Amino acid sequence: MLSNPAAADEGRPQVRPQTEGWTQPTSDDGRPLLQFKQPRVAQPKTHLADLTLSERAAKVKELGLPGFRAKQLSTHYFTHFTSDPEKMTDLPAGQREQLVAEMMPPLLTEVRRLTTDNGDTIKFLWRLFDGALVESVLMRYPGRVTLCVSSQAGCGMNCPFCATGQNGLTRNMSTAEIVEQVVRANEVIASGGLGGLRRDGGHNAERVTNIVFMGMGEPLANYKRVIASVRRMVDPAPEGLGMSARHITVSTVGLVPAINRLAAEGIPVTFALSLHAPDDELRDELIPVNSRWKADEAIDAAYNYFVQTGRRVSIEYALIKDMNDHAWRADLLAKKLNARGRGWVHVNPIPLNPTPGSIWTSSEPDVTDEFINRLNDAGIPTTLRDTRGKEIDGACGQLAAEGDEDEGAEGTVTAGGPGRRPGASESIDLRG
Ligand code: SF4
Repeated sequence: MLSNPAAADEGRPQVRPQTEGWTQPTSDDGRPLLQFKQPRVAQPKTHLADLTLSERAAKVKELGLPGFRAKQLSTHYFTHFTSDPEKMTDLPAGQREQLVAEMMPPLLTEVRRLTTDNGDTIKFLWRLFDGALVESVLMRYPGRVTLCVSSQAGCGMNCPFCATGQNGLTRNMSTAEIVEQVVRANEVIASGGLGGLRRDGGHNAERVTNIVFMGMGEPLANYKRVIASVRRMVDPAPEGLGMSARHITVSTVGLVPAINRLAAEGIPVTFALSLHAPDDELRDELIPVNSRWKADEAIDAAYNYFVQTGRRVSIEYALIKDMNDHAWRADLLAKKLNARGRGWVHVNPIPLNPTPGSIWTSSEPDVTDEFINRLNDAGIPTTLRDTRGKEIDGACGQLAAEGDEDEGAEGTVTAGGPGRRPGASESIDLRG
């Protein structure tokens, strides 16, 4: 039997969100600045992954070459994960270099690779054509391989706990830059770079099975390119990677019009709302975009996603000690979710790392249990998720910030940031 929330919360303080080691940019009215427009608009040269198969064929013909070369190139890229002309022996030797130069310009340069969890987790730091840095994290689980991808360089959502948002939005990533993260991860897996050999032999049959858009950036703020990248992931080979849309999770802090647009898109991706607080009083401070679309509007949009697609949605909730983990908030969240209907949602509380001295630290175990039990008892399926990559860094975006530091770039992120960014923790696999 659960205690009443007043008793469970007795003596608990209310910690308010605030940045640590950096100052949140604010607008003239003193509210955290939201940045939807990208200051740097230059995109990389068009890559075949930006195009549909017929668009690729048209471009190859423009180069004066037969259209079917597009299909061959696409097979090399999406099935064999290679952009190396030397390996494309089915193409005429005299045309390979030109085809690759025109259709597959280099997109991601690997800057750093960090491995943990006995080789089952790899975090990549990539440099884009214009020097911007982004990350992706590859995780092997029993029966599946998950890649957490970035969708923007930086982020304009200005969440006070997040390393990625500290320098604002640099630019949207292109469709092909998003897709290339998957292709490069597949290349690493195929070469045996992720963990030990499987019992049934080599790695050839293995590839990324699940995608989570929880790396750098707010995916729905880069809507068009993110959706095009999802299509490319789902398109059967050789047009794309032939992945299952259900195994692709698109997550957002709550850009309501874009959630509704996604619901009407007709691609059955898994949808995740990073809520982190059911009450506007706290969420206004924790997730600045809440000043634009309130918690109830975001929950309505998530519910609409379920109604439109029939896909059960995930609510992400990072449990932060004495900030959002009170029993009354679990009850309020359950009430708001149940008010919309039953069976449409599950909640994923995300455990933070313990970060001594920081306000962004993990909830006590008994508080975590109480929070989860209250939701479950109210009929909301709630599962604490496993975390990965804890030894690699504390927060998504931190590696990119360190990369900046190495190169003496301006505007580096100062140490002492949050233990883990609740908005988009790369170490969380939502697929359960
Ligand atoms: S938590 Fe997500 S939405 Fe918020 S600033 Fe970081 S990357 Fe952007």
